[in-house]
Amino acid sequence: MFLAEGSRIDSGRYTTNSNSIEFGPWHISYDISCILPSVCSTKVVCERDDDQFCQFCLYCKELSIPHFPDMVFPKNVLRLDHTGGAKIQFNPLDALRRVACRLDPIEVSCAEAWLESRPDAEKAKKPFDWTFSTDYKGTLSDNITVERTNESIDFEILKRKDQILFYHDLTLFEDELHDHGVSKLSVKIRVMPTYWYVLQRYFLRVDDVLVRSHETRLFHMLNTDYVLREYSTKEAKAQDINIPTSEMKDGDDVVPLLPVKEKNTEKLFINTQIN
Ligand SMILES: [Zn+2]
Repeated sequence: MFLAEGSRIDSGRYTTNSNSIEFGPWHISYDISCILPSVCSTKVVCERDDDQFCQFCLYCKELSIPHFPDMVFPKNVLRLDHTGGAKIQFNPLDALRRVACRLDPIEVSCAEAWLESRPDAEKAKKPFDWTFSTDYKGTLSDNITVERTNESIDFEILKRKDQILFYHDLTLFEDELHDHGVSKLSVKIRVMPTYWYVLQRYFLRVDDVLVRSHETRLFHMLNTDYVLREYSTKEAKAQDINIPTSEMKDGDDVVPLLPVKEKNTEKLFINTQIN
């Protein structure tokens, strides 16, 4: 798939690029934009008492973690909107709401170096999970009913070489853990002639310590009234997987090899409004 020359992103500006596709009753779209600034950009506006905030101040107000990832893409959002009113969304703000305000119990060889390099994190005196591990599974509108199911996503269908009608890979946030690894949340959408499929992955690699993934998969078959949502967590200690860090640049390099810790599947019923 090719982007026209004019649609390239200029990360220095507040431009947003969007793309969308219709799939039966679904309107599927994404926005891509630039990085969250690290300071308030409009103090005059944000200090007024009228609930208008710049992106940075909105994040400070909404989130209880004292520090954000190095790179947050506040306007990178994937939306799946059903004509009946149901809405499914993947956005970084809601994902970061699910980062705990506690120190993760993992033994981390770089914790001290990391804290030294982040005096603001110390100043906050508020321990939090600086790996930004999140169990975010997407944001659902209230009219979607969620039920546990034994049904599972048919991965044979996903392997079929059908025509790809729509594809995108969005980064929601990323942090390099002060050169001690990577923490990244990204979401991919693929629309095929008979289904759509979403894979959101939180990937954590703390060098010489551990590798972790939290994956959410959404699968919807045309002409059905539900979406399957599979959530799985995987984790291994670095010493147990025996792969050099240089070969673990990306989640794809290592996540398929990790042992599964937790896995469950739910059915999201798309309740269409009856007039
Ligand atoms: Zn501001």
